[in-house]
Amino acid sequence: MRGESVVVVGAGQAGCQVAVSLREQGHRGPITIVGDERAAPYQRPPLTKAYLAGETDLAGLVLRQDSYYDDHGIKLVRDERVIGVDRQARVAVLGCARTVSYDHLVFATGARPRPLPVPGAEHVLNLRTIADADAIKQKLDGQVGLDVVVIGGGFIGLEFAAVVRKLRHEVTVVETQPQVMQRALSAETAKHLAARHRSEGVEILAGKSIAAVKEGFVELTDGTVLVADLVVAGIGVIPNSEVAQRAGLAVDNGIIVDAHLRTVDPRIHAVGDCARFASPLTGGLTRLESVQNATDQGTTVASAILGSAEPYTALPWFWSDQYDVKLQIAGLTDGHDRTVTVGDPAEGRFSVFCFRGDRLIGIEAYNRPIDFLMGRRILEAGSSLTPEIVARPGFDLRTSQQQAA
Ligand SMILES: Cc1cc2nc3c(=O)[nH]c(=O)nc-3n(C[C@H](O)[C@H](O)[C@H](O)COP(=O)(O)OP(=O)(O)OC[C@H]3O[C@@H](n4cnc5c(N)ncnc54)[C@H](O)[C@@H]3O)c2cc1C
Repeated sequence: MRGESVVVVGAGQAGCQVAVSLREQGHRGPITIVGDERAAPYQRPPLTKAYLAGETDLAGLVLRQDSYYDDHGIKLVRDERVIGVDRQARVAVLGCARTVSYDHLVFATGARPRPLPVPGAEHVLNLRTIADADAIKQKLDGQVGLDVVVIGGGFIGLEFAAVVRKLRHEVTVVETQPQVMQRALSAETAKHLAARHRSEGVEILAGKSIAAVKEGFVELTDGTVLVADLVVAGIGVIPNSEVAQRAGLAVDNGIIVDAHLRTVDPRIHAVGDCARFASPLTGGLTRLESVQNATDQGTTVASAILGSAEPYTALPWFWSDQYDVKLQIAGLTDGHDRTVTVGDPAEGRFSVFCFRGDRLIGIEAYNRPIDFLMGRRILEAGSSLTPEIVARPGFDLRTSQQQAA
């Protein structure tokens, strides 16, 4: 196994992790990462946080220094796309027509912003890459009081809104759902986050849709016109799975893989935002967009290439920073039907325990990092907490397992 060659398609969080973990686990064969961005693999989360706020630069974002790749015999091909994979010949075809042969290939192609399906979408900027962030920074730098319209009240849209507000611009968030973060969070947490944005002076127009974007303004379907010096959309992503599909692999909202992150071709895996995997947690096919998922899946696939038979079972977790709010989510809260809130929402420190029936499926910790850390452990161990136990006066997560016993 040790001398086999690995080609990683996509030089992001997950792709980089595959290569790093392969070397850490003793793989000696050639590793090539092909990425279509100019920058070496970097972290995306700071793009809507410290990078946009001007508190860090690209050097502070890169996952490994340039010398790391040379020192560890990892060939990093930048600014180049893989346009095809010939599974018979076991070669990846690059945009320059060069081919790279492989014993194992890993798709780590991530996802791209979902385009806004309205007239004038060319006036809208997205925020996925460092190039996107630089284009936005260019519009904002040296200015104050610009009218900024954010389309989409999800993680990206709200984090962006928080930073732009801190930079003293006027911000309006337009969200089609009745509440921001409707799909990602419980109603309780979403309500407090929206209130926090409003208290910072962000206008949130929920339950509204965009009719068109024009130079200098945005039209809503109800006839409202918003002045806009800058329009940024964060309305979700589309997984980059076209190359896998052309190679004859199953694709449906992501590259379909089994619990070992393997496609139907045993020599090809998929990891990170592009992978829709058989999840023991949900009992179905799941696609996640988070740093935790990208890194843990990268490590799992490196082990699989080196012969491990362990499936991917890591507990998902997420975080978001907005103003001084640290939101941390352990588990998957999607699909909950009951919640119990612990702590003091009025003081901006609380946790929402999300249940499906009597089963705890996730915890949203709003400025309660201990709950997040304890919650992760409890969920990983298989929680026996019920809504009744959590709702008891004086409930304490630190001693909760005894209380549940
Ligand atoms: C602005 C922003 C903020 C975020 N904040 C958070 C956060 O706070 N917490 C959190 O957990 N997650 C956050 N995320 C999500 C997290 O960054 C992603 O889930 C993670 O980057 C996914 O890693 P990935 O390697 O799967 O994909 P990516 O990081 O997208 O990397 C995929 C790479 O593959 C390249 N590629 C695609 N196709 C090809 C091809 N054919 N050939 C060559 N290269 C190709 C892409 O251009 C890209 O460079 C954020 C994301 C964004 C955009």
